[in-house]
Amino acid sequence: MAQIVVKFGGSNLKSPADIERSAQVAAAYQTPLVVVVSAFSGVTDALIRGIDEAILSEKAPDALCSDLKEIHETALKLHIESEAERNSVRAVLQERLEQLKKLLVGIHYIGAVPDFTQDQIVSTGERLSAPIVAAVLRKAGLPAQEILPETMGLLTDGAFGNAAADLSACAQRLPSILTPDITPVIPGFYGLTREGKIAIFGRGGSDYTAAVIARSIHAESLDLWKDVDGFLSGDPRIIPDSRTIPFVSYEEAAELSYFGAKVLHPRTVEPLEQDQIPIRVMNVEQFDGNIEPYTLVGPTKQGKPSLKSVAATEDIGIVRLEGPGVGSRPGILARATAGLDAAGINISSVITSQTSINLLFRKKDLSRALAVLRSESVPSVVAVEHFEDIAIIAAVGDGLRHTPGLASQVFGALAEGGINVLLTQAGASPVAMYVIVKKEDKAKALRAIHETIHRG
Ligand code: ADP
Ligand code: ASP
Ligand code: MG
Repeated sequence: MAQIVVKFGGSNLKSPADIERSAQVAAAYQTPLVVVVSAFSGVTDALIRGIDEAILSEKAPDALCSDLKEIHETALKLHIESEAERNSVRAVLQERLEQLKKLLVGIHYIGAVPDFTQDQIVSTGERLSAPIVAAVLRKAGLPAQEILPETMGLLTDGAFGNAAADLSACAQRLPSILTPDITPVIPGFYGLTREGKIAIFGRGGSDYTAAVIARSIHAESLDLWKDVDGFLSGDPRIIPDSRTIPFVSYEEAAELSYFGAKVLHPRTVEPLEQDQIPIRVMNVEQFDGNIEPYTLVGPTKQGKPSLKSVAATEDIGIVRLEGPGVGSRPGILARATAGLDAAGINISSVITSQTSINLLFRKKDLSRALAVLRSESVPSVVAVEHFEDIAIIAAVGDGLRHTPGLASQVFGALAEGGINVLLTQAGASPVAMYVIVKKEDKAKALRAIHETIHRG
């Protein structure tokens, strides 16, 4: 029988009591499971802050480790009655916390954090939650066993901070370890470099871990348990009247998460495409004993072309190269981007006109990109400008490229709301278009576009 990969994220692990509910969910399946877990809610953020604090203060590592010990000890005491079981999990946690402290003290004395150490520290939260979740699942009667990515050999391309899995190596190694007679509980968010170092998949990376595992074992489905009613028509924190979207295609899901919908890691659908494994998005807070998805993410399109959802991110900056005829002379873009390529800087998007080339970057790359582009002498370019206080808003729905009227629905909504569009791009993706607005217009623009989705 094919297994199902089930992922419990930080949104399911907000309070120690939440773990019990996740165990009830896992016990309700009639199918062999592989469970992937994130860190308890807020722990990854605390680890990231802990790195900065450790560089400044020698005492910071102690404070962080005792906070983490307390959070996990509370969960242990609440859920595990057996003294022997508690002691064995506690010993594992203790060892991992000591390792964390050593790393944090180490970076205090070095005064900097190497990228491989950063990834090891930031992924500690998953190695603290997994043994506890495994123990709680055992208590619920499942044959649960923690299995680390280190043990499975979950190989990546080694790009620290934003690694991608080596899918063929994973497909060879994982099935013989993740067998249906046990319920493996795997810390998500990271894999290994060829040298055996930890490399994380980027924020929200446990969704991606779960997808990589689903592909490797040819799972029946990937079930993501969240704290919301599936994929919604907009971020519920900004758009309170957002609604569940019952069906989202892989392409739509990829675009929405690329443009900031936090509910899914941007690369989650990639590993699933080959076997067309569906993602089922569930709400742990509405669990009533039935395994019923709110949203199904799958390979095929369903329904008539329409706008389905909006997403936004402020993690964007523009470098604009200006000059007469830059849009019509050959070779200018190649020249401008050669330096970026050599510096390993990713360009998120390019929009050109006759007099300007607009290059879009993630915020972390913006100042380096600007320095590279200012140092290049590109023919015809007379000025290099940059813009930071902006947001990119994506409207997503099948048919955007081919259906007359859908893109104008977006522009109409923005015009009605009096929102100025700084730049726009439509047609590059068949299912998504985006507009760039001033940061302060972000929420207003999202709500205006969302309103038109509701009206249809
Ligand atoms: P987990 O920790 O389980 O991976 P996340 O917090 O990463 O969960 O993702 C769930 C959150 O994503 C929701 O609580 C919601 O606030 C946010 N979110 C943003 N955009 C959307 C959307 N379009 N649909 C559903 N949730 C969204
Ligand atoms: N704990 C990690 C994060 O907060 C990974 C995840 O939640 O998926 O980004
Ligand atoms: Mg997440």
